[in-house]
Amino acid sequence: MSASKPRIGFIGLGIMGRPIALNLIKAGYALAVYARRSQAAQPLADAGAKVCASPAQLAEQSNIVFTMVSDTPDVEAVVLGEHGITFGAKRGDVVVDMSTISPEATRRMAAGLEARGIDMLDAPVSGGEQGAIDGVLSIMVGGKAEVFARVRPLFECMGKNIVHVGDHGAGQVAKACNQILVAQTMAAAAEALLLAQAAGADPIRVREALLGGFAYSRILEVHGQRMLDNNYEPGFKSKLHLKDVRIALETAIVAGVELPGAVRVAACLDELVARGDGELDSAAIARTIWGRASLD
Ligand code: NAP
Repeated sequence: MSASKPRIGFIGLGIMGRPIALNLIKAGYALAVYARRSQAAQPLADAGAKVCASPAQLAEQSNIVFTMVSDTPDVEAVVLGEHGITFGAKRGDVVVDMSTISPEATRRMAAGLEARGIDMLDAPVSGGEQGAIDGVLSIMVGGKAEVFARVRPLFECMGKNIVHVGDHGAGQVAKACNQILVAQTMAAAAEALLLAQAAGADPIRVREALLGGFAYSRILEVHGQRMLDNNYEPGFKSKLHLKDVRIALETAIVAGVELPGAVRVAACLDELVARGDGELDSAAIARTIWGRASLD
């Protein structure tokens, strides 16, 4: 490992965080990790990461700290909470939040950190677990250009399409846009397969036909197959997709625009989560769409 490489901390070692952190180790970075459950840190410890007892302890030994946790309150807890990153970070350190959270909360956190001399980037991703494993994520970044330039070599270990969208929160706005597209495309795939079956055409053959034309999407390909297989092992959990569409709707209220399609898809995800399927892959939105038509 080169002596000039920054020391990296990583918090949030779930479906996405684990493979991203492993790719940083593979690229030769010294990694410190924190997980609230020791089992979550074990694969990283096995790969050579140092396991820390708290986010503060991790921040003390890192120059750049990544967070990839679930929701806005989780990022606030690991950054600002008791034994949080701010209690160990030094002036000039950078917090890079890769979770999908509220743009407004991101801006507030960035301002609070800046007052302590700590920089922040919001850097949510798209591309799923496989994209994280393969290091080909799309990364949408908000924050100062010079901080983005400093962190870019690390992003290059994780992703292929790395875009500095704008100032603090702009990455999260881009991700909210991403999630309303993904959720509605997923719902559209479920509706197309429903119509195929109800109208007497084999949904398997219909999907096959559509994949060659203008209706092609990665979602029809991957999630359409999951729907046909009735295989909803996550992937991306439905409860997290609901969280993301809600973030988009809250952002739309602040921005003064209406998103009727996102409202409809949020209702489908809400129904799915309310019936206890929040841990299933969000392709299970088909279950609410098909269930309404009594077709399964
Ligand atoms: P996940 O598998 O549920 O992992 C989340 C990780 O964060 C878990 O290890 C969890 O710890 C940890 N965590 C959550 N809250 C925490 C807290 N307050 N303190 C400490 N650790 C905490 O979720 P994921 O799929 O990796 O998603 C992570 C983020 O990426 C989410 O914001 C999600 O919306 C976004 N995202 C996911 C995907 C995807 O395809 N999965 C794609 C793009 C973006 P425990 O294990 O102890 O619960």
